[in-house]
Amino acid sequence: MIQAPPGVTLIAVSKQQPEARIAAALAAGQRVFGENRVQEAHGRWAHRREGIDLHLIGPLQTNKVRDALALFDVIHTLDRPKLVRVVKAAGPRRARAFFVQVNTGEEAQKAGCLPQDLPALLHECNGLPVTGFMCIPPVGEPPELHFALLKTLAEAHGLPHLSMGMSADWEAAVALGATHIRLGSAFFGPRAGVKPGA
Ligand SMILES: *Cc1c(COP(=O)(O)O)cnc(C)c1O
Repeated sequence: MIQAPPGVTLIAVSKQQPEARIAAALAAGQRVFGENRVQEAHGRWAHRREGIDLHLIGPLQTNKVRDALALFDVIHTLDRPKLVRVVKAAGPRRARAFFVQVNTGEEAQKAGCLPQDLPALLHECNGLPVTGFMCIPPVGEPPELHFALLKTLAEAHGLPHLSMGMSADWEAAVALGATHIRLGSAFFGPRAGVKPGA
């Protein structure tokens, strides 16, 4: 099992993983897990929530906000003003920290706040415990450029946390200051239905 470097939180991304692997991770002492769908995460974790630090790393729809805020400790995917308003209006929540997802590659099809829209979105976030930025670099581009940009943006806004780095690029992310790495296949093995290399 991969060990996170000191000071870096390894989020074991358990989406689509078989129960046996999750049980093995729990037995090995892993306590921080990530999921990208609220419903799927509820089924996998609601019955053994205690002592687990659960992170939402996938897109959040406004109609799932209440469920997400009740289930997850940390949300990595705040990315638009409407979502922020719904989160703020939702009342009591379990979630203790939030990341703003940044679309560093400015890809039309990808979630995340465009870099130039960050000041306005962060203004909207006023009152929420936002502690950092998250990104998913574009496929086929050197991820280092995006990690470096995310770090620069977080420093400019005085935010300490960087959620960046997945199975294929986490070492580069750590070298560029990642505080949270999100590892699925490198931690558990390939996901069901995912071909090697896909
Ligand atoms: C699935 C997923 C991961 C983990 O992906 P791997 O390549 O298996 O490490 C990380 N971050 C996000 C946002 C994901 O959806």
